[in-house]
Amino acid sequence: MINYDELIKLAKDSGFTNAGPLDVSTLEFMPDVRAMCASDKCHAYGKNWACPPACGTLDDMREKVKRFNKGLLVQTVGQLEDNMDWENMQKAAADQEENFQKLWSRLDTLYPGLLAMGAGTCTKCKECTYPDKPCRFPDKLMHSMEACGLFVSKVCTDNHLSYNYGPNTIAYTGCFLLE
Ligand code: SF4
Repeated sequence: MINYDELIKLAKDSGFTNAGPLDVSTLEFMPDVRAMCASDKCHAYGKNWACPPACGTLDDMREKVKRFNKGLLVQTVGQLEDNMDWENMQKAAADQEENFQKLWSRLDTLYPGLLAMGAGTCTKCKECTYPDKPCRFPDKLMHSMEACGLFVSKVCTDNHLSYNYGPNTIAYTGCFLLE
């Protein structure tokens, strides 16, 4: 049985701005979202085991999440000076990554076998082994929510967590599937 009050506190202690329960049955793995990866805006397409085409099909992902019912959504919200404030956008992204890794190491002992989905590609290793060698940590690989076909704003809305915090803010979202 998940104690969400404790988990949300743990998430906030790890640096996240917000966190909340995730009902895994709300996750929809959409081909249209996956298709956006091919435009390679994030420069990770074809460069990491966690991203297309290496990460497998959406059916593979549906299969992987079958064993989970509940999870935790986590968010870092950054304040921007204006909508061209790249410096603070990058800072918020770096904060999300740091918060995510910190919480992951804490959750790992509580929920061995958890599945982590982040706001971008897997950054566990300084350099991904793709495509020359197998993934170094296949059980610890961080999936990308978008690469899994998840429409992040919909995941938030479906789970009663805000996604848009108003003008001059940016929110990065990830999740952990726990039980
Ligand atoms: S764990 Fe390392 S090798 Fe595996 S996908 Fe992540 S960065 Fe690549």
